[in-house]
Amino acid sequence: MDVSFWDEDVETAQPETLQQIQLDRLRDIINYALKTPFYKRRLAKVGINCDDDVKSVDDLDKIPFTTKDDLRQNFPRGLLAVDMNEVVRIHSSSGTTGIPTVIYFTADDIDNWADLVARCIRATGAAAGDVFQNMMTYGLFTGGLGLHYGAERVGMTVIPIGGGNTKRQIKTMKDFQTTVVHATPSYLLHVHSAILEQGMTIDELALRKAYIGAEPHSENIRKKIEQLYNMDAYNSYGLSEMNGPGVAFECVYKAGMHIWEDAYIPEIIDPATEKKVEDGQTGEVVFTNLIRRATPLLRYRTRDLACIIPGQCECGRTHRRLSRITGRTDDMLIINGVNVFPSQIEEVVMNIPEVGTNYQIHVDKVGALDKLVVKVEIYSKMFRGDAKQLDALKGKIKDELRASIMINPAVELHEPGFLPVSEGKAKRVIDNRPQQYKD
Ligand code: ADP
Ligand code: ZN
Repeated sequence: MDVSFWDEDVETAQPETLQQIQLDRLRDIINYALKTPFYKRRLAKVGINCDDDVKSVDDLDKIPFTTKDDLRQNFPRGLLAVDMNEVVRIHSSSGTTGIPTVIYFTADDIDNWADLVARCIRATGAAAGDVFQNMMTYGLFTGGLGLHYGAERVGMTVIPIGGGNTKRQIKTMKDFQTTVVHATPSYLLHVHSAILEQGMTIDELALRKAYIGAEPHSENIRKKIEQLYNMDAYNSYGLSEMNGPGVAFECVYKAGMHIWEDAYIPEIIDPATEKKVEDGQTGEVVFTNLIRRATPLLRYRTRDLACIIPGQCECGRTHRRLSRITGRTDDMLIINGVNVFPSQIEEVVMNIPEVGTNYQIHVDKVGALDKLVVKVEIYSKMFRGDAKQLDALKGKIKDELRASIMINPAVELHEPGFLPVSEGKAKRVIDNRPQQYKD
């Protein structure tokens, strides 16, 4: 396997060196945090009033967690640590409740972020000479611009096409012989169906690699994308509170995502007790951002569930790896008392060969009971078969789902194109129950 680096010394640094970098940067970022009214108050309570009060990385444990609510309550400037004159960019997300969160960046912050993304790109073997079609939404959402800056830094030819307009995406792939794409996995699956509908084949394109992220997806979705397009797909993880993409990314070994530990200190906690769990155990991912001075965030609770993969990666990078995100602390469905994560359902349906590229989960209240309906698109050739065959397939999907989630769902089979597609993050779960039944 060909292994390339962007910043080899840092990427393969020994644990002691990494820890020293972390401590230096933690002290620096504490100084910036202390410039915000929010952290000044919080840190004073635990005896941290200047960077000297932090003697080792373990001192981080004293600091309370920061939550999305903290960000909302301090909107718009309660977490701003530099003068507005130094701020060159704002990213903001509106969230479901409508109260926005905002992240500010200095020029150095943007520069450091681009460097991390460049590392991710090189880790997959892409380089100058690659044509990079960035199909992720540009704008306040960090996905588009985040990869854009990193890709330019590496020297790739960047096509900043953004999300949507599937026909144009396909034409662009062909016209410029795109080699690397960045998109949500659900959108890439949709684009593949559109390519076939146009009577084109994958051989007319030059695609080699895809960066897929921004939404949860299973190993089976990755495999599907790799098979349909005959290219490698790499998992890309990030969140706007930690800059955006570039927090953790897969290398050519595709065995979990390297977390850039010189820039982010990861912790995995039990979301109920808030105690740290061991490597290999799943819990809520918590990050401290060591490199963004304009909006420092210490021990930020992401609500994403994952584990740290124990052991070393064969690529030689020493930065530990994050597993696939298995869900969010807030996406668990409780159906007739049973806890179900949408990722469990995806794992099952995407492993069934007849199932196509799209599915949806519906939950309704029928009388006193919750009703779970899993709607899946199946390949058109199945519909040409007889009704018996369709019934058998339905039965198989039902049985496999029941074995995995312990409840009995209804299954609907649909033709390709029946379910709505999203150009950005897919909306997989439609929970129609009145609010009080949802949690
Ligand atoms: P929002 O939190 O409003 O969706 P972001 O764009 O910052 O805004 O989204 C970050 C979230 O997207 C992450 O916390 C995670 O839940 C999800 N996400 C991002 N990348 C991945 C990935 N590779 N796998 C699974 N989920 C991901
Ligand atoms: Zn690796």
